[in-house]
Amino acid sequence: MISGIVNSTLPKLINGFQHNVQIDLHTHSTASDGRLTPSELVSRAAASGVNVLALTDHDGTDGLDEAHCAAEHAGIRFINGIELSVSWNKRTIHLVGLNFDPDFSPLKAGIKGLRDFREIRAREIAHKLEKCGIQDAYEGAKAFSGGKMLGRMHFAQFLVKTGHAKNIRSVFKHYLVNNKPGHVTGNWATLENAVSWINNAGGIAVIAHPARYKLSRSKLRKLISDFVLAGGQAIEVVSGSHDVNEVKTMACHAHDFDLYASSGSDFHDPDFPWIRLGQLPELPKKCQPVWDLFL
Ligand code: AMP
Ligand code: MN
Ligand code: MN
Ligand code: MN
Repeated sequence: MISGIVNSTLPKLINGFQHNVQIDLHTHSTASDGRLTPSELVSRAAASGVNVLALTDHDGTDGLDEAHCAAEHAGIRFINGIELSVSWNKRTIHLVGLNFDPDFSPLKAGIKGLRDFREIRAREIAHKLEKCGIQDAYEGAKAFSGGKMLGRMHFAQFLVKTGHAKNIRSVFKHYLVNNKPGHVTGNWATLENAVSWINNAGGIAVIAHPARYKLSRSKLRKLISDFVLAGGQAIEVVSGSHDVNEVKTMACHAHDFDLYASSGSDFHDPDFPWIRLGQLPELPKKCQPVWDLFL
């Protein structure tokens, strides 16, 4: 089968004809730290053959309306999404939320809290960078964020522009991470709160890119079991940042915990060629696709 075509339950999408689903349920736009506007993202997805797309910006839903309109024009199915920042056992974990009502008040209040923390953290990051001789990082990062969600990616762009690092990858190696200049510990949502905001807004909570946290097998299973206890229903088995073995491992965890499996690239930028929009391998056969819940 062609890479990226996910041939699962073949839902009827258009005029009762069965179509293959090429799906990407984890992407970013300029509403957080992606390079494309929501409309540009949808156009690029449609041009790459994606017919079911979720926009999952960090701690915000500002891009959803624009993406929804663009998807209607492009004739592809759009799913509301978000990627929530969570603090769990002194680590930062990301949860994707899918197919929820963005107007649900407790979710909006939760997002507001996360955005407020981003502002506080940005000031602290800038203060720490200043202590090691890098001036005006707050203003510099803010300019890259376009006044929207302020994240580490915007600091990374500023540090590359000012010649402190040769590229984004190098920033994340030498700055803004544990034990490096500019690192600030996350103080994000609890796992329980984040899952309940998504569930009560009618959506599905998904553990994002589980292999990225570099947890031992037992710690990862503790995370998954805490997530299940909190009411979480799905895990990303296929991710742009998972290799073949990680996909197999996550499929086993999904099976063991009776979780639905999701698939998303975590696309941010056309200039990051290692993560391509919508070009994802199939879910392993034993997985129950999360999109069975909403397609
Ligand atoms: P934040 O949520 O503001 O702490 O920033 C997290 C974001 O930083 C991720 O979603 C990525 O966009 C980016 N990021 C983190 N680590 C790396 C890395 N090693 N290389 C490139 N981007 C990264
Ligand atoms: Mn990001
Ligand atoms: Mn993430
Ligand atoms: Mn992401």
